[in-house]
Amino acid sequence: METRFNIVPVQEWKGYKSRPFLISGPCSAETEEQIMSTAKQLAALNKISVFRSGIWKPRTRPDSFEGIGVEGLKWLRNVKAETGLSVAIEVANEKHVYEALKYGIDMLWIGARTSVNPFTVQEISNALNGVDVMVLVKNPVNPDLELWIGAIERIARAGIKRLGAIHRGFSAYEKTSYRNQPNWQLPIELRRRIPEIPIFCDPSHIAGSRIYLHEISQKAMDLNFDGLMLESHINPDKALSDAAQQITPDELNELLSRLILRSPVPSDPRLLDILGELRDQIDVFDDHLLDIIEQRMKIAETIGQYKKENNITILQPTRWDEIIRKVLIKGKTKGISNEAMDIIFKAIHQESINHQMRVMNNGLPGKELPVNK
Ligand code: PEP
Ligand code: MN
Repeated sequence: METRFNIVPVQEWKGYKSRPFLISGPCSAETEEQIMSTAKQLAALNKISVFRSGIWKPRTRPDSFEGIGVEGLKWLRNVKAETGLSVAIEVANEKHVYEALKYGIDMLWIGARTSVNPFTVQEISNALNGVDVMVLVKNPVNPDLELWIGAIERIARAGIKRLGAIHRGFSAYEKTSYRNQPNWQLPIELRRRIPEIPIFCDPSHIAGSRIYLHEISQKAMDLNFDGLMLESHINPDKALSDAAQQITPDELNELLSRLILRSPVPSDPRLLDILGELRDQIDVFDDHLLDIIEQRMKIAETIGQYKKENNITILQPTRWDEIIRKVLIKGKTKGISNEAMDIIFKAIHQESINHQMRVMNNGLPGKELPVNK
């Protein structure tokens, strides 16, 4: 059975001001004072539509702060009454939904650790049947578009009309600069599959660190996302969860004022420009390439350390022969010429050697070796 989407455009959602639709607030509600003062400062910016705050927190390890629970719902009710902002929390089971509805929560989001599980999403959908609240579905932790769409379909079938998706990045085995690797292709493809769905970006959980919030927010705006969810805390360094990625309301204001917004109306030639869209996609892949090269260099440095401790020479010609032989064969199957593969991998190998040299020379710049045969 085809799912029929009956989605209200984001411009008609309560509290909409202009693009981007902004959701902000702390990772977790900690005390009433903390959320009330954060909410008041955010409301004063006159840019935010929804105040977010986690009440039940899915933490990676036990014994971390797992949220304040139902008590926090009362605080949010007060925030709503005092500031006029709509309020949003994460729900991860049907009990959370019932409690949220009891306290007049306006928006629910389904977290990445929940959207991955069809049983739980269905349970949440059943609890939402016939209810009129805003619901946002975060991407599952793994980059599986069908699973994400499946979760959105389940919620749509409960009759939810103010329904959106949030790109919050994907967990990766390798260590990357970001906490959760964005995969911009997925929301782009999601928009192609469900053109009417508003798409939000959560730069906080992608970044994991304040320094990347602006560049990720800008990227989302350039890719024509409808809204942003950004974590904000009155005293980020003291936050009980996700301290490194939260910013004060003032810092949020500063970030927002630096965002360049290109108009999404069809008269904007940039949006009619297919070449522009394709170039954005190229930028995404170039970013991926850079991240991967960065990781390769880090491994080269670890190898350098090992060779230094064990007194092994840097250059091991048989290993290099093996690498180049393998990549030439693989390159051919991917339609990349031997000539290009040779140039690319010689350059990468040379750079790895330089990194190893630096480690072996105790951090001094390494002398470049003529390795390329
Ligand atoms: C959150 O928004 O605080 C959260 C836990 O998000 P995610 O599900 O993206 O990890
Ligand atoms: Mn968080």
